[in-house]
Amino acid sequence: MIGILGGGQLGRMLALAAHRLGIGVRTLETVADAPASSVSELYVGSFDDVDALDRFAKGLSAVTYEFENVPVGAAQHLAEHVPVYPPPSALEVAQDRWAEKRLFRSLGIDTPAFAIIDDDASFEKALREVGLPAVLKTRRGGYDGKGQYVVKTLLEARQAYQELGRAGLILEEFVHFDRELSLVAVRSQEGESRFYPLVENHHREGILRQTIAPAPGVTPAVEAVADIWAKRLLDHWNYVGVFAVELFAIGDKLLANEIAPRVHNSGHWTMEGAEVCQFENHLRAVAGLPLGSTAVRAPTTMINLIGQIPDRASILSLPGAHLHLYGKEPRPGRKVGHINIRVVPDADHAEVVQQALRRAQSDPT
Ligand code: ADP
Repeated sequence: MIGILGGGQLGRMLALAAHRLGIGVRTLETVADAPASSVSELYVGSFDDVDALDRFAKGLSAVTYEFENVPVGAAQHLAEHVPVYPPPSALEVAQDRWAEKRLFRSLGIDTPAFAIIDDDASFEKALREVGLPAVLKTRRGGYDGKGQYVVKTLLEARQAYQELGRAGLILEEFVHFDRELSLVAVRSQEGESRFYPLVENHHREGILRQTIAPAPGVTPAVEAVADIWAKRLLDHWNYVGVFAVELFAIGDKLLANEIAPRVHNSGHWTMEGAEVCQFENHLRAVAGLPLGSTAVRAPTTMINLIGQIPDRASILSLPGAHLHLYGKEPRPGRKVGHINIRVVPDADHAEVVQQALRRAQSDPT
């Protein structure tokens, strides 16, 4: 049996993939009605409670996690008793934007210009080094665009600096990118790595709305750069499992923005679009099984369902459409499911995607 820290939608989809392989799943969550509760043995407890962690870990063959804000201490504690994949060292770096960007640089991975801010002096220094416009971000705890401000003027920069607490910050060059790409990759316990193709991501209000897989117009040379960068990171950590690298593309040049040491929203298209999906490949890696093919079965567009659940029939009647709902109560800004639309013969894919977008925004049922 495998344990998952966190029982959100990623935990739920991991559990579903585990069931197909005959692997049992136990999840640790702070709330009882989490999305994974219907498909796993759910333990309710705090990640900071050592007794809860020990009860959870009893009898497990490995532990993994589905969100990157799991306290590193919890992962390290568990690692004393049971293998924890991905390694807590990856979790630690992913939780700190400064450590993350420094590691990128040390591995020869290009990033936007950045500088650490811990007081007034380092704030002024960062402004001189990075310039404006820039993005001021908290080093820790940010997600879906929270904890960051785009600042264009000195006044805006000073306001954001006050707002974000004047320490524990990082200033990044504002990148005028052409598009955002990401790479999802998996590494096995034996050190074999496999890469899904680069995909193109569209965000609104800091939340991923759509992924186009594979990203159109990516040259083999650009794909190779992304694969090499991903492999350097995976090998650096002796990583086991799936991870994602988020990238900015300016023409054929890439800059690394951040990594997620887990299955990733921009990899959901793999459920129907790839030979073996990211959830199964993560489980295979964690369980010490052979990795599956990351080849594309058919180009796929993934649409996130945010804030409302569409009428099922209206989505399922679209050619090539597959619906995944997470068992969550709709609330504004909340990811409640996604639609994967595969390119199928005899259907106009672009038109089907437009239809799906319209129907996804129709009244909840
Ligand atoms: P989060 O962890 O909250 O997702 P990100 O650092 O990925 O934070 O930023 C969220 C989004 O903000 C990115 O997907 C991108 O669209 C935009 N963004 C972040 N950093 C920069 C930057 N340096 N230049 C331009 N846009 C940025």
